[in-house]
Amino acid sequence: MKKNFEIAFPIISKETKPFYPSENICPICNTDRRLSSSELYVLNVGALEKVSKNTSMMSDKLEGFCHISYHPGEDSEENGFKVDIVEAAKCGQFDIYFCSINCMRTFFNTIVDTVEKKQNEGKIK
Ligand SMILES: [Zn+2]
Repeated sequence: MKKNFEIAFPIISKETKPFYPSENICPICNTDRRLSSSELYVLNVGALEKVSKNTSMMSDKLEGFCHISYHPGEDSEENGFKVDIVEAAKCGQFDIYFCSINCMRTFFNTIVDTVEKKQNEGKIK
C-alpha cells in the first residue's frame, strides 16, 4: 500500500540549530524520542576536519548537505534537477531520528517519490 506523504525539503537548513535535531523529533510522525524509552533509529551524517595525521575534529568551518540530483543524458531534452534534503548543516553534521522502521521507510520512500515527481514535472512540455 503506497502512502501519499509529503515532507517539506530541505528538512535541515542554515536556520537549524547545530547537531540537529536537538528536539529528537521523528520527521514522519513527530514523536519526540526524548519522551520514549522504546526503539530509536538514527541516520548520522557528517564530516570531521582532519587536524593532524591521526586526529579529526568537529569543525564550525564545515557545512553539510545531502542532495539527490538527476542528470539527464546528453541527448535528452529534460532539465536536470536536485532535491535538497539537507542544506547548510552546521558543523557539517546532522542526525535524523526515526521512531520505527516504518517511519524510516516512509522517509526514504518520500524522498524517492519527490525525485520521481520532479522528474515527471520536467517531462511536461
Ligand atoms: Zn515516527
